[in-house]
Amino acid sequence: MAADTIFASGFKPLPFWWEDFAPTTEGSTAPPDSADVVVVGSGYGGLSAALELKRSGVDAIVLEAEKFGQGASTRNGGAISGGVNVGKGISGREQAALEMLSDGAESMRHLETIIAREAIDCRYRHAGRFVGAWTPDHYDALAKKVETLNQNTDSGARMVPRERQREEIGSDFYYGGMVVERAAQLHPALYYKGLLAAVRRAGVRMSAGIKVERIRREADGFAVETSQGPIRARHVAIATNGYTGEATPQLRRRLVPVASHIIATEELPEDLAHGLNPKWRSLSNTCRILCYYRLSPDGRRMIFGGRARFTPVDPTVSSRILHRFMTDRFPQLKGVKLTHAWNGNVAFTFDGAPHMGVMDGLHYALGCNGSGVAMLSYLGYQTARKIVGGSNRVCAFDRAEFPTAPFYTGNPWFLPIVGGWYRLRDRWERWRA
Ligand SMILES: Cc1cc2nc3c(=O)[nH]c(=O)nc-3n(C[C@H](O)[C@H](O)[C@H](O)COP(=O)(O)OP(=O)(O)OC[C@H]3O[C@@H](n4cnc5c(N)ncnc54)[C@H](O)[C@@H]3O)c2cc1C
Repeated sequence: MAADTIFASGFKPLPFWWEDFAPTTEGSTAPPDSADVVVVGSGYGGLSAALELKRSGVDAIVLEAEKFGQGASTRNGGAISGGVNVGKGISGREQAALEMLSDGAESMRHLETIIAREAIDCRYRHAGRFVGAWTPDHYDALAKKVETLNQNTDSGARMVPRERQREEIGSDFYYGGMVVERAAQLHPALYYKGLLAAVRRAGVRMSAGIKVERIRREADGFAVETSQGPIRARHVAIATNGYTGEATPQLRRRLVPVASHIIATEELPEDLAHGLNPKWRSLSNTCRILCYYRLSPDGRRMIFGGRARFTPVDPTVSSRILHRFMTDRFPQLKGVKLTHAWNGNVAFTFDGAPHMGVMDGLHYALGCNGSGVAMLSYLGYQTARKIVGGSNRVCAFDRAEFPTAPFYTGNPWFLPIVGGWYRLRDRWERWRA
């Protein structure tokens, strides 16, 4: 079938990253009857919390409903925004917004500390980021952000006009854009693998295939009811992000799970790959239907992600849409085939900012809004510091307000409508430009 020519022989509907490390149950032990802290979820957030708890002498157990690393943490694009993306949902110059930008930048420093301290080989590379402007108006809006970013996150941000765009990206698709030098990229599954190894080395207990079904408050803590029986805990930390379910309805109704999709191309000739992305930037754009893309760590493939649909669909469906988005930007990739396609869930919040804190006695670190490699690692760590009472300042993402919307219980039935509206708005704005 002609349409199937985008798939290379041996195509896998699985993350490209899993070729190097795939979710595992290795090291899983039977859950205990009790623990000081039960951490729910084994992504970057849960592992970072558990590691810091153990380093502080607190006994924690990580419970994972599926395999370790089954969630977004081994599926993402591996772009580290260094705080810039936190600014996405924040408008104005009010103090709280600036503190969040500053803590967003701190999340990148924290990530680098963990990678160095635990000697994690995850192909970490400081290569900067280029955000392409969808329209001339978007270019102007980006230009207004540059000063705020440089003052509060030391971003090294600057504008690149359309006539110099080819210095950053092998495409004329955008109306210029913004370069952010303080941005990086890594191999997400190898970062996960290294974090998991660090957690194991520290002696944290972990159980895979144990789903938390309900959490009951008791006089001196919690009864965590799981698919394999109850566990008593003094504290519980929820790190379930885009997979937050009915065990924590009060948190579920504050998060909108949105699917994000990625494709990986077959190996490209070296000069073709280099021409697409001469500085190895992480690339993205300003339109509502976000696309984010980069080269694979060996520089030979295009890893192209985006909101092809807002809900999970079969990767063979989303990959056709993403392939079109990719060749719109890089016509030189027409005819290039795909070896992998996959998706995963991110969690959006109603105020566009990540959150940590305590609700009904439960600690949580949630709401990546699409950028959580550094942020959720950081919020997991900050949650542990809060539990042990070892932080001398309050994290900017630890705020009392965690908004929801009237009648919303966590079922994002409206996403296809929102997706359709966003596509229409993007097309209209582009047409006007
Ligand atoms: C396709 C895609 C691309 C992305 N690209 C980027 C990017 O380029 N840069 C960036 O910074 N971020 C990116 N992200 C976001 C980033 O991956 C996430 O923010 C981050 O991995 C979240 O980590 P986490 O630990 O909070 O959650 P996850 O890694 O999603 O882990 C949550 C875990 O909780 C478990 N769980 C849920 N409910 C229960 C329960 N009841 N009991 C037990 N366990 C439970 C789940 O099984 C899951 O394993 C992307 C995400 C996706 C999906």
